[in-house]
Amino acid sequence: MTQIRTRFAPSPTGFIHLGNIRSALYPWAFARATGGDFILRIEDTDLERSNQASVDVIIEGMAWLGLDHDEGPFYQMQRMDRYKEVLAQLQAAGQVYPCYMSVAELDALREHQMAHKEKPRYDGTWRPEPGKSLPPVPEGVQPVLRFKNPQGGVVAWDDKVKGRIEISNDELDDLVIARPDGTPTYNFCVVVDDIDMAITHVIRGDDHVNNTPRQINIFKALGKEPPVYAHLPTVLNEQGDKMSKRSGAKAVTQYRDEGYLPDAMVNYLARLGWSHGDDEIFSRAQFLEWFNLDHLGRSAAQFDEAKLRWVNAQHLKAMADDALAPLVQTQLAKRRITTDERLPALCGLLKDRCDTTVALADWVMAFYGDVSPTAQDLAQYITPAVAPALTILREKLTVCTWSKEAISGAIKEVLAVTGLKMPQLAMPVRVLVMGTPQTPSLDAVLALCTREKVLQRLLAP
Ligand code: GLU
Repeated sequence: MTQIRTRFAPSPTGFIHLGNIRSALYPWAFARATGGDFILRIEDTDLERSNQASVDVIIEGMAWLGLDHDEGPFYQMQRMDRYKEVLAQLQAAGQVYPCYMSVAELDALREHQMAHKEKPRYDGTWRPEPGKSLPPVPEGVQPVLRFKNPQGGVVAWDDKVKGRIEISNDELDDLVIARPDGTPTYNFCVVVDDIDMAITHVIRGDDHVNNTPRQINIFKALGKEPPVYAHLPTVLNEQGDKMSKRSGAKAVTQYRDEGYLPDAMVNYLARLGWSHGDDEIFSRAQFLEWFNLDHLGRSAAQFDEAKLRWVNAQHLKAMADDALAPLVQTQLAKRRITTDERLPALCGLLKDRCDTTVALADWVMAFYGDVSPTAQDLAQYITPAVAPALTILREKLTVCTWSKEAISGAIKEVLAVTGLKMPQLAMPVRVLVMGTPQTPSLDAVLALCTREKVLQRLLAP
């Protein structure tokens, strides 16, 4: 069997968002699931709109999500000589021809066609045919080169998402494949790349469906078999519009900064247009084990941030504390907080109540930074009735062993001496030590806080 080779071919013309990166996830997964190769190609021929910052976000975002590539990144702008070489071959084979039609003539043609309710298309004026005489070549005009699209018949392919698609060749006019200055145009570069990179499966957004019949015809003119195509339906934003930077989509890397986990993102994005039964939560390994092109969804998927947070929370809970700690450390470093060996245990204690590593870092802050209980909580919980109990607790915590068990023992002794119920003591202690009445089990919380901090905070009122 031939080696499967897929690619992701983004245009670096804006910060890559989740809708775009899904077009990287599926070809990556297909390559990984089949032992194939995944190639990264940067389509940077739009010189006005392409920029390095966008390339950086693509590469950073993919690295963060663990979508590693086997070859590339290849940059189309560095392959111009190669495109020109193939163009010359096509020209020598009589598959392209110069067209001298001016912009004004093309405009007039389009207007005429629209006035007659025809689809605007190039009319083949300069297409050489046996026995046809071409107009005189105008002086001083650099021609474009047009591809001689086959006449008659259909271009067809079995799309892995959309099923069989057939387009009549008569619907397709002769595409410009080189500009007057000789630079090749988009559809041509894509085909040369897909041939040179031996791509077997093109998995991309369905905004490219209209390019596919043209690309297939160029493949054939070059004597090559076209790859298998899978055109993915659009990703809609929460308002139901096509996801785009203009309508507020975030750069992929922003999710990293907001505390999402790469595996959770992969899980969420995978489900945005592909399914494995009713499975909602799965690991990267399971995804790769299950992924194939037969279960890609046919209809547009809608992004849902609340669902993404939920998926993230499930992954966070399932993650080993030792693996979580460095991610939380990264968030804390941004706040100039240094941590210590307690961090994995803190992650274990707190992860159930958090949906991002940022939320987890917020909690952990109480153990390394300062806390500031609200005036309302202080007024509600730190009453004169509880003051003696707090004093006794403080005395016991000054001398006891600093372990969860010993701390639990100290608390129970205070309850026994004062006759208070657990919440009557625990809530005030939580407010003073953690800044909030809602925390995990008090003995576990105190044990992970340093004795020094606990004693100092119990004095606070
Ligand atoms: N550069 C194109 C885009 O970013 C993708 C082209 C392709 O996958 O064939 O939409």
